[in-house]
Amino acid sequence: MAHPPPVRLDRPVAIVGAGPVGLTTALGLAFHGIPFVVFEDDDSLSLDTKAGTTLPRTLEIWQRYGVADAILAKALRVDEIGEIERATGRRPFPLRMHVLGAETRYPFVINLPQHHMEPILADAVRARGGEIRLGHRVAGLEQTDASVRLRFAKPQGEREFEASYVLGCDGGRSTVRELLGFTVEGPSVAERYALIDLIVDLDVANRRDYPYLSYFSDPQEWMILVRHPHCWRFLFPLPADLDEPTAEDLRDKALAFIGGVGKVEIHNKVVYRTHHRVATRWRDRRVFLMGDAAHLITPMWALGLNTGALDASNLPWRLAWLLRGWATAAILEGYEREQKPLATHGSGEMADAARAYMAKRVEQAHAMTDNNWSNAYTRGLLGVRLDVDGAGAWSLVKFATEPPVAAGDRIPDALVHTPEGRETRIHDLCRDRFVALYFTDARRRPPIPANGSPALAHFAVSRWDAPLDSGLRDRALLDPGDRLFARLGVRAESIVLVRPDEHIAAIVPIAAGAAERAYEDVTGMTPP
Ligand SMILES: Cc1cc2nc3c(=O)[nH]c(=O)nc-3n(C[C@H](O)[C@H](O)[C@H](O)COP(=O)(O)OP(=O)(O)OC[C@H]3O[C@@H](n4cnc5c(N)ncnc54)[C@H](O)[C@@H]3O)c2cc1C
Repeated sequence: MAHPPPVRLDRPVAIVGAGPVGLTTALGLAFHGIPFVVFEDDDSLSLDTKAGTTLPRTLEIWQRYGVADAILAKALRVDEIGEIERATGRRPFPLRMHVLGAETRYPFVINLPQHHMEPILADAVRARGGEIRLGHRVAGLEQTDASVRLRFAKPQGEREFEASYVLGCDGGRSTVRELLGFTVEGPSVAERYALIDLIVDLDVANRRDYPYLSYFSDPQEWMILVRHPHCWRFLFPLPADLDEPTAEDLRDKALAFIGGVGKVEIHNKVVYRTHHRVATRWRDRRVFLMGDAAHLITPMWALGLNTGALDASNLPWRLAWLLRGWATAAILEGYEREQKPLATHGSGEMADAARAYMAKRVEQAHAMTDNNWSNAYTRGLLGVRLDVDGAGAWSLVKFATEPPVAAGDRIPDALVHTPEGRETRIHDLCRDRFVALYFTDARRRPPIPANGSPALAHFAVSRWDAPLDSGLRDRALLDPGDRLFARLGVRAESIVLVRPDEHIAAIVPIAAGAAERAYEDVTGMTPP
């Protein structure tokens, strides 16, 4: 199989902001061989107490970019998300993540504080030869047809930088967004949230057996409990008219919740305001907004950083296809079209549902059902359907167990077997290329194109092993028991075309040249 050529650029891509979205995007560019430099205002990575929970879809993206193992080595895996009625202890919405074992190699969420996560991402960026220039605050930008000139305030190094593209990952108060003149729309939520991190033994001396991530619902006062590798975090709503509590107040509130315990140490306290604000535009020619710079989402159900990770999954492969000369410039238009509705409505609705449920307005919690599988799928952000063809059919919520897939869905990371007998995951087949999966009967020697292009690979998928003289042994996958075929729910004799970001680009009947035509619909060019 041919490998993609390295991308040669006179001017690298500039990523503004070394938060989790900027660093994940940098890993995405490194993965696709695109030269880049990251510019960060601060003199160090952030030490603030922010995101704590990362969802399976983000782990899959980090796996693609080669950093998931390093993250997992420092994180706590969470098998069960507790949705618990505070007054009765009832658990009406089951959320055991292990039911996703056939769908993803990460059937769990993880808890890891953002300030522990960012150095792992930054080390991975540097290990790939990527540069992170600290102490570089972007203060100006000018675009020409061929480049973007960045100007820095308080430069530790240079005062200006000429980039081919600029990816604004500079957080909720984004300077890049301001320089583009884009506004944000949406409400600030009236209540604030207060969190207290306590170091306390709830495992042995004071056994509580709470799931490592638990949402305690209550009409008076809900609470979210997060067990971090180094502490227990208690998060409460703080009504707008109440004075800010002290750390001791919050500690006592937490103790009233969990009951008497022995030694307790206060580790940290934070009070913050919540928003749901999305930028009116996400792109101006060579400049893009990503992560919190494009969308500030209430961090309920861990939707802040994790929604930003979806941006970092979507844009790098598009840039790679354009810069390799494998796609027309129109490929970049899909980024905002696909990601913006997720942020404006999708994650927003999920955060609304979460707040409604926590305050016991269950009838408004539309994204929640009594189906463990669909709850786990939705909450893991595995149910993301992108508006791949502009028809407006995006969604984040799955209401049924194993629903048939459609164009735009993330393809499950199911197991199939190679002709050599190795087990392989579907996502591993899509590394930096499109993959056309032909659901067919390999005994009949279907005419499947040979694999010559680095941009598009073809595979027969069948429960019938390809006969040794079929000419298909280099491109046939065994699907024991038709498991994958049944899971996808597609018709026999269909092609499922999967993009490099593991989303389904199209589902079309098998015909001569059909996969290439579907590929061309996305890229505007025939496969190289
Ligand atoms: C208390 C709290 C708890 C949260 N919990 C969760 C959770 O559990 N799960 C979840 O998914 N999300 C959570 N979030 C949200 C999450 O922290 C954010 O969504 C995430 O940090 C966004 O990442 P980002 O990289 O887009 O932006 P940021 O993390 O804000 O990073 C932006 C970076 O850009 C830099 N920068 C800014 N301006 C410039 C400039 N002009 N030039 C150069 N650099 C610049 C900043 O210094 C910063 O390093 C939480 C947030 C808070 C506050």
